[in-house]
Amino acid sequence: MQSETEMLATSLTQQLIEQAKELKFDLVGIVLPTDAQTYKHFSQWLELGYAGEMEYMVRTKQLRKNPKAIMKECKSVIVVGVSYANAFNDEARYDNNSDELVGWVSAYACRSDYHDVIRARLTELREWIKGKVSWAKCKVCVDSSPILERELAVRAGFGWFGKNTNVVSKQFGSYFFIGELLTNVELEPTEAFERDRCGICNRCIEACPTGALISPKLLDARRCISYLTIEHRSAIQFELRERIGRWIFGCDICQQVCPWNNKAKVGATVEQWKTRYEMFRQNLLELLSLSEDNFKRRFSGTPIARIGRKRFLRNVVVALGNTMDERAIEPLARLLCSNEDSLVRSHAAWALGRIGNRMARTALERFWKQECDECVRSEIENALQRMQ
Ligand code: SF4
Ligand code: SF4
Repeated sequence: MQSETEMLATSLTQQLIEQAKELKFDLVGIVLPTDAQTYKHFSQWLELGYAGEMEYMVRTKQLRKNPKAIMKECKSVIVVGVSYANAFNDEARYDNNSDELVGWVSAYACRSDYHDVIRARLTELREWIKGKVSWAKCKVCVDSSPILERELAVRAGFGWFGKNTNVVSKQFGSYFFIGELLTNVELEPTEAFERDRCGICNRCIEACPTGALISPKLLDARRCISYLTIEHRSAIQFELRERIGRWIFGCDICQQVCPWNNKAKVGATVEQWKTRYEMFRQNLLELLSLSEDNFKRRFSGTPIARIGRKRFLRNVVVALGNTMDERAIEPLARLLCSNEDSLVRSHAAWALGRIGNRMARTALERFWKQECDECVRSEIENALQRMQ
């Protein structure tokens, strides 16, 4: 038989789940703040260097062991998910009738920054809890807090760890965002998701163009296009540039091929979060000529703004090289001649080499003479060598 405290916790949990649904969270679950079961796996992953330049993960490693490390008095973690499945149409990305040189942006980034949207809703949920329990303390976490949130999502009952390392929900597939509300209020935990539904499917591993999925559920982020185009700050490893194709911010391939995403249910926020198609597929030549101000104006309030113009230009230049289209030569040559940043110039040299015709060669030879930066000179030399 339940004690009075347990009955109160059960009743409050039910009301809270209803309230969260009112706030248009598609998935809601409660977990206890116990040690993460995947912490050892996570530590080994870091030790093997798979996190690449994401040093903040190493710095905050200890904090990820248990949510109590970021809120000492935490008694329950409310985990929420917001689906953006079916708010976009993947086929529109690959419109073959268009003559434009287009680059692709990951579906999650083609809308208002999810951090802001989820934080605002979790803040409303926090106020609701405080209205019910006067002494309640809560902490809102959306992505930036050091927390192993995918494990929390599995324990909250959302789905299982897919072989592509995303949490896959039977209802919503893997296109959903996760957030958490840590609280000192005791709530009743929901049931964890126990079964792995990937079965013999290996589509995500087979489809990954860079071999970043080394084995089921093991990602070498250093090879992943999402990492390379978003988190990685320096030059992109030479042999991966071709494999990036036309992705300029993130990559959806291992989710596009997942059968669970084909049958994903429409989320409660589908109207508000409709994909901005001008973001989904973007004209690469137009992006190349964006000034700093125009970059800020165009991407303000979207996740792209977070990486800044320099890194974004680097990505655009790689994608342009991968179009292998002569129309890109002149703008790339202009960039190689005059862009203030050696990172951008060196990738422009690579892109010209990738297009590789006589015009590109002439531009490379011409700018090699005037280039002072050793790294860029060496990129130009490499590009010229590849063209021989
Ligand atoms: S996001 Fe792209 S590159 Fe990264 S694992 Fe998935 S398919 Fe591979
Ligand atoms: S593509 Fe197949 S193996 Fe990969 S996550 Fe989806 S169901 Fe699992």
